[in-house]
Amino acid sequence: MPFEHLLPLANAIINSIGPDTLSDATLEKLRALFPEKLIIAALDLIDRGNVFHCITSWGHSEYEVLGSTATYSVLVDLEPTRIPYSCTCPAFAYSVLMAGTHIMCKHVLATFISHKMNSSIKRPTNVDDLAAIFTRQFPIPVPNAREPGAS
Ligand SMILES: [Zn+2]
Repeated sequence: MPFEHLLPLANAIINSIGPDTLSDATLEKLRALFPEKLIIAALDLIDRGNVFHCITSWGHSEYEVLGSTATYSVLVDLEPTRIPYSCTCPAFAYSVLMAGTHIMCKHVLATFISHKMNSSIKRPTNVDDLAAIFTRQFPIPVPNAREPGAS
């Protein structure tokens, strides 16, 4: 099914998630859209407290997810782009942007679910922390890197 059809469905399911609960019915719906492994991995990240909502004193917020080998930065409000979220992990680049086999990676799914469940770890963030986050989000470009989606 094309991405444009799956995304509104994913949004509707994620938006139906209430604070502190993830019902079996919601899990069943998520299974229709995401591989079981991805859902389990996302819920595991939430259970471990690895989803951080970084908030500055002036109200700016960013999401970061602590993966097994690195910390990934998750952007959740990129509308009106075709894919209105992003993650700095390799799986997002390959499975979502290049191959198109997945609509999101486990970090993005974990961020959305934990946001709806109000279970992300709130982390006060200063200017230095924010600079480090931005460096992860916008790494120095590699010369001749092929733009995802470019022909
Ligand atoms: Zn990711």
